[in-house]
Amino acid sequence: MARVGRPDLKLVPADEARRLLADVRPVGTEAVGLSSAAGRVLAAPFAAPADLPSERRAVMDGYAVRAADVAPATEDAPVILNVVGAVPMGDVFRGLVGPGQAVTIATGGFVPDGADAVVMVEQTRTAGDDRVAVLRAAAAGANLVRPGEDLARGEAALPAGRRLRAADLALLATFGVTTVEVYRQPRVALVSTGNELCPPEETPRAGQVRDANQTALAAQVAAAGCLPACAGIVPDDATALRDTIRGLLATHHAVILSGGSSVGSKDLCADAVADLQPGILFHGIDIRPGKPMLFARAGNRPLVGLPGFPTSSLVVFDAFVRPMLWRLGGETDRDPWPARRAARLGSPHKSAAGREDYLRVRLGRRDGDLWADPLPGGSAALSNVVRADALVRIEADRLQVAAGDWVEALVYL
Ligand code: AMP
Ligand code: MG
Repeated sequence: MARVGRPDLKLVPADEARRLLADVRPVGTEAVGLSSAAGRVLAAPFAAPADLPSERRAVMDGYAVRAADVAPATEDAPVILNVVGAVPMGDVFRGLVGPGQAVTIATGGFVPDGADAVVMVEQTRTAGDDRVAVLRAAAAGANLVRPGEDLARGEAALPAGRRLRAADLALLATFGVTTVEVYRQPRVALVSTGNELCPPEETPRAGQVRDANQTALAAQVAAAGCLPACAGIVPDDATALRDTIRGLLATHHAVILSGGSSVGSKDLCADAVADLQPGILFHGIDIRPGKPMLFARAGNRPLVGLPGFPTSSLVVFDAFVRPMLWRLGGETDRDPWPARRAARLGSPHKSAAGREDYLRVRLGRRDGDLWADPLPGGSAALSNVVRADALVRIEADRLQVAAGDWVEALVYL
């Protein structure tokens, strides 16, 4: 049923919104091959199943020797050793390095028995056939790694909830792990609401605007490690919206609605989700831009209603929705803003008590300091978020920022 008038939203503080959004559980797990595991989130902690390395290995090209033999070696009085063989690449030296003996070894080669140090080739000279002059002492253990020195058997290596990077895959491959249990990627349905919207490929009639949010949200959802599904445009019609949401909740792990989240006669999201359980957790956050954001759940399936203005939608997604989607995808405790830089605000800013503001800023260096210059235009201006290098968050308890005051810039990566 359409509401009349615009009663004020009951705003929750930003911290409270973050707390409510954090209360979602991952959607399940699946096994994937290592070649498709990059960027997926590990579902169980991984401990080293064996010592790494499994044997003593050289970390330099040179000679495997007995440290005691080369202890007196100097440039002027080198120690001459008999070269009794070489460690072949991909094989081991079958023999013992005895007193007065050396074996040629390359980086990564398994150090033969009897030897307890590797002398770098740069610290040697050939001294005739099968003889080498060692010019400097090498302590026991020099230029080699011991078994388990990199990772000991049983040592924690990768925590559950970690989004796998190339280095992690190298580690798993090293241990012969070729399939890995990861969290399933949440399927996230995107719906744009509004009688005024037409798809980007159409020419708007008078009074229409193109739907920009669905395309942007699809990119943001994918970048958050989820699988976006564009479900099109739904008019401002309570029944159509409710039916669309019901259908999508049955086949997706989350639904994001754009537009229609504030409290006006044509803003029907809240009505359309009113019969979900547990239903609406908040409708309205004390932030700018993006105040009318709505968050509801149908069981563990989150439903987000984002404000229609593209700038608001873009900013609110990054600040509030993205961390929620990371959790839905199994990722825990990830810093939502890994690139933070201290900067001086280029122009004064006034905020209301309790309100958290997100200024779109350009970063630039002047007089030896980094400056964050707020870009003109409010939430109706898309260009400001396009031109922004960073967001500056003005905390809820900060009412006034003077030009030149230090703030924290949350840099777009
Ligand atoms: P609403 O949140 O539905 O009140 O929309 C606020 C403003 O954002 C309106 O001027 C809409 O035309 C605009 N808007 C809503 N949805 C979209 C969208 N998907 N793409 C671009 N602009 C939108
Ligand atoms: Mg609307």
